[in-house]
Amino acid sequence: MRRTIIAGNWKLNGTIQETEDLITALLNGESKNDKATVLVCPPYTSLQLAAKLTSGTHIAVGAQDMSAQEKGAYTAEVSADMLLTVGVTYVILGHSERRQYHGETDRLVNKKAKLALAKGLTPIICVGETIDQREAGDTDKVIGGQIEETISGFTADMIRRSVIAYEPVWAIGTGQTATPEMAQEVHKFIREKVAATDSEAAEALPILYGGSMKPGNADGLLSQPDIDGGLIGGASLKAADFIGIIKAV
Ligand code: PEP
Repeated sequence: MRRTIIAGNWKLNGTIQETEDLITALLNGESKNDKATVLVCPPYTSLQLAAKLTSGTHIAVGAQDMSAQEKGAYTAEVSADMLLTVGVTYVILGHSERRQYHGETDRLVNKKAKLALAKGLTPIICVGETIDQREAGDTDKVIGGQIEETISGFTADMIRRSVIAYEPVWAIGTGQTATPEMAQEVHKFIREKVAATDSEAAEALPILYGGSMKPGNADGLLSQPDIDGGLIGGASLKAADFIGIIKAV
């Protein structure tokens, strides 16, 4: 039985006050579902507060990125050890916005993921095709290549300690969602691709869907056999919407 994970990617949102308000609303609301791991990923400056507020609760805390370096002269970078010291347990890696605006490559994501795993963090490795790639019929080629490179050198144990998020770039923040069938097809393809390294680990690997998931479409997506949760942007910023998705599990 695979773990279901509902993760909120807050992106560039979440001052100290907003973090306190949103987490308090989640804890006071019906955000607990025994069938799911609930995770919030606020910006760096709010991680310590988020971890403190959620300590001993059902909500885990993740970062939105981390450095590929352990320490040293890398201005503005945040290391895995720094994340661990504030109580972070997950880290999103290779989000399409990191790839688009910061030139992150599969190779860099692979390096970060290996470091995260070595440090005991759970990487959420993001992959996804653009609309041009999908329309050109290249979805499998693009996703297959991203999977191959981002998990290159992974052992079965490393796969077992990882999470993958399929986020079609054209569905992120656009209100356009992949249909459950479209998403399922890619999730199944990802699992088959990972199975080339180790089929048992691939079977146990949570693969999350991300791209305009909302309470209204979560049920259809989450009921697909290879969709094991969601990575949610916009709808994770409103407690009622995020709770609506958690309830759909
Ligand atoms: C995301 O940024 O990971 C995401 C899926 O965003 P949204 O839910 O807003 O499309």
